[in-house]
Amino acid sequence: MSTVQPEPRVKSFLSQDRIPAFVGGNWQTTSAGEVEVVDPSTGAVVTRVCAADASDVNSAVESAHQAFASWSALSPSERAVYLHRLADLIESHAEVLAQLESIDVGKPINNARGFDIPFGAECLRYFADLSVQATYDTPLAIKQMEARVHRAPYGVSGFIFPWNFPFTLFCWGAAPALAAGNTVVVKASEVTPLSTLYIGHLAQEAGIPDGVTNILTGYGQACGQPLAEHPLVKRMSFTGSTTVGKLIGRICGERLVPCKLELGGKGAALVLQDADIPAAAASLANAITLNTGQVCCTATRWFLHESVYDDFIDQAREVLSHTKIACGMDEQSQMGPLVSKPQLDRVQDYYQKGIATGATAVIEMERPEVTAGGYFVSPHLLTGSDDNVCYREEVFGPTAYVVKFSDETQAVSRVNQLAYGLANSVWSQDHARASQLAEKVIAGNSWINAHNVFAYGLPYGGVNLSGVGGGVNSPETFNDYLRNQTIARPLA
Ligand code: NAD
Repeated sequence: MSTVQPEPRVKSFLSQDRIPAFVGGNWQTTSAGEVEVVDPSTGAVVTRVCAADASDVNSAVESAHQAFASWSALSPSERAVYLHRLADLIESHAEVLAQLESIDVGKPINNARGFDIPFGAECLRYFADLSVQATYDTPLAIKQMEARVHRAPYGVSGFIFPWNFPFTLFCWGAAPALAAGNTVVVKASEVTPLSTLYIGHLAQEAGIPDGVTNILTGYGQACGQPLAEHPLVKRMSFTGSTTVGKLIGRICGERLVPCKLELGGKGAALVLQDADIPAAAASLANAITLNTGQVCCTATRWFLHESVYDDFIDQAREVLSHTKIACGMDEQSQMGPLVSKPQLDRVQDYYQKGIATGATAVIEMERPEVTAGGYFVSPHLLTGSDDNVCYREEVFGPTAYVVKFSDETQAVSRVNQLAYGLANSVWSQDHARASQLAEKVIAGNSWINAHNVFAYGLPYGGVNLSGVGGGVNSPETFNDYLRNQTIARPLA
């Protein structure tokens, strides 16, 4: 039996009566009742979290506003020390965070240990170091003038996050904002708030001044919307569905507050006849089971050249049939459950609607019997026409829609047919040809012979319905959290 037992710090964190919100350096109960946190591997309630509403948002934003003056007055190196200290603490609490992430999201513990937590800590270090080396004043050579562009933080930055990668996305969002001298108010997803709230303890232990980082959990309308609407929030960032993203975009547009929107996707993989088929089939099969397919940028439409189609499907079937589906805390698990009952219903509903409207299953496996109450599904591959709901919409489960093609140009236009534009990949051993096609498939990210590629310094963001506002993980992201101010003195 290789199931990990929650370690004492995890048990103690979960045993709190209601996990409070972190506001102004204090752990506070909130006004809007509670949210039950469910382990999707079992369906059992593991703890309760205080739910925040507009009045709690107001306290958090006021605290962040008050803390801004002193936090922004620190030098970049001083702020970087705090962020490195937080990264150190994340590393020393990595097992706690990985267990919380696994219990909350249902993700395989070894994925949380190997990716989510260390990659989040690395993000804090990346932006801390970038901020020390950044240019905050650029002199301008203009005749008869002493002039410069000065870059300063905005003030309070609001963040709303989804449930699929809570820890990593917190780091991707908050690290550049904090490093640039902003203070932050974060609304964690009501579905998976645990690791984000735990960061509040680490921020305290790192000595980050009170009010610099504030963490709330609550429902979208009750807590997320008042955050986006708050007049003291000077910068917003939203990661989540395109539907809610449009709403946040409208609110910020009305307030003329800059906003990053990181939204949904319907990524494609274009597999040419000269691709390394075993490697491509294994990578794409693993891409749809990663986080049980609940990955915004994953490859959910596979365009396979007709000459390699049968071989590719056979190899993908082999990989998928050996993918170990098990509870998040099982060390053998390669794919956990879906995150919640509504998500299970949504994915099953998509399969049923897809099949009812003409799609057929290329690979369909029995629903796994892992636990009685867990939200487990099996991977599926479907095929059919391009107007099928499973081809066009984001299912957010372990599934892909398979398309056979013979003409490359037509395949590219079919990849580009949908209004999403987050991430695509091209698979070929001719790297020059792959590189040309990578430019033609429209998205914020085009990967070659790989899918789901992340690194700090490599910008990641979407276009069209997948997002707007500059993306994450790059020097540009850091600059997005600084406003430009031109300072000029005409010379007599
Ligand atoms: P969601 O849009 O339902 O919720 C995201 C967040 O918005 C949650 O915290 C939720 O409480 C909040 N929210 C909901 N309604 C709101 C409202 N009216 N006002 C303010 N806030 C509101 O998305 P989800 O189901 O949590 O996450 C899945 C989605 O996130 C998928 O579409 C996925 O593609 C997307 N996603 C995108 C990226 C990216 O980087 N592009 C990363 C992860 C997830």
